[in-house]
Amino acid sequence: MEKPEKMETFHITTFGCQMNLADSSTLAAAMINRGYRRVNSESEADLIVLNTCSVREKAETRVLGRLGELSRLKQKNPHLRLAVVGCMAQRLGSQLLEQAPCVDYVLGTDRVFDLPDVIRNSNGTQTILTTLGRENIDTITPIKETPFSGFVTISRGCDNYCSYCIVPYVRGKERAHSADFIIDSIRKMVADGVVEITLLGQNVNSYSCDGTDFPALLERAARETDVRRLRFMTSHPKDLSRKLVDVMAGQPKVMPHVHLPLQAGSNRVLQRMGREYTTEHYLEIIDYIRGALDYVCLTTDLLVGFPGETGQEFEMTLKMVEQIEFDSAFMFRYSARPGTAAARLEDDVPEEEKIDRLNKLIRLQNQVSRRRNQREVDQVRFSLVEGTSRRDKAVMRARTEGNKTVLFEASNAAAGDIVPVRITTADAFTLHGRMEETL
Ligand code: SF4
Repeated sequence: MEKPEKMETFHITTFGCQMNLADSSTLAAAMINRGYRRVNSESEADLIVLNTCSVREKAETRVLGRLGELSRLKQKNPHLRLAVVGCMAQRLGSQLLEQAPCVDYVLGTDRVFDLPDVIRNSNGTQTILTTLGRENIDTITPIKETPFSGFVTISRGCDNYCSYCIVPYVRGKERAHSADFIIDSIRKMVADGVVEITLLGQNVNSYSCDGTDFPALLERAARETDVRRLRFMTSHPKDLSRKLVDVMAGQPKVMPHVHLPLQAGSNRVLQRMGREYTTEHYLEIIDYIRGALDYVCLTTDLLVGFPGETGQEFEMTLKMVEQIEFDSAFMFRYSARPGTAAARLEDDVPEEEKIDRLNKLIRLQNQVSRRRNQREVDQVRFSLVEGTSRRDKAVMRARTEGNKTVLFEASNAAAGDIVPVRITTADAFTLHGRMEETL
């Protein structure tokens, strides 16, 4: 492989979840600290980084497709370097080079931030680094994602081993940042202009470090920093405590939105998924949250077609969706992930049946979301302006306290402002409104 010319610019494409977005921000900071310049288009980049996801087969297929295109780009520009980092790199390691020999660096989830050193030490040779177990994760400094909002990862990895999930195998065991490190990271971001912070973890509710649990951490973040809005994800029904809900009720800085993956509506399927809660327990949490918070938005994750899921059990998922009325949901059909416990089960729900169930679920949830959003009409929502609408530059796009997208016309609102918007109309996906001049 030709010795690379002086590498100066880099571009990162992120696939997958917020955790990957947060890692990409931190990787960008590590590269910039070493004198590299971040560019917005791949055509300007000496180094192209793909930060990858393995949660579904489709996510990996997309990356391989991308690498096919990039290998042609590399044929035209032999000095171009390609790095594949994150979950897919972690899962495949050297196999990735067999499928995509154009790749120069393959760095797993705990090695992502070593990229600058790897480039310096590789001397132009292909490098694979996938050792898991970066114990002291306080060395990974989070960086704001946008000028006014940012992610602060509070823990990495997961110990739950839900039977369908590949995350524990690609992100390793759960390790927590110290509470002081997290508070300090929030303060640094706020000093840098950030007004909204999302605390991130595969399962934030099981956070525990030196005697500080998640409710206590959230309370400290609200009391000890000047951040204006706090969010957190992702929660797990088996660990979400009433204590956390009480902190939400008592801390106006904590936004009234809980993302609580249900996954399925049948206890038998939940048990085979290894989720460690029942639908009854889940409903109790929902009742407690809605009892403690006057206004709250609830979102979830739902998986259809898990091995052995009968038509009747799928109907139970639909019933839960009707009963709970989530504001919105991420909905998927099951695909076996190599190495997971569920991959050893017979994937006996036919693909067409999975697609049919998913379409039925999406139709129902869209009706429910429309109903939930219609209840927002004539309410005033304090919304964080994110910028202009993608379709119309005269229209501002913002995020309400409940984490809903709202579009409104306003000449005197700028990105980063938190403004009162009176909701005028709503569909299943978006709220529309007008800015309240005075309140
Ligand atoms: S809680 Fe379960 S689904 Fe979530 S990351 Fe951990 S193993 Fe995966």
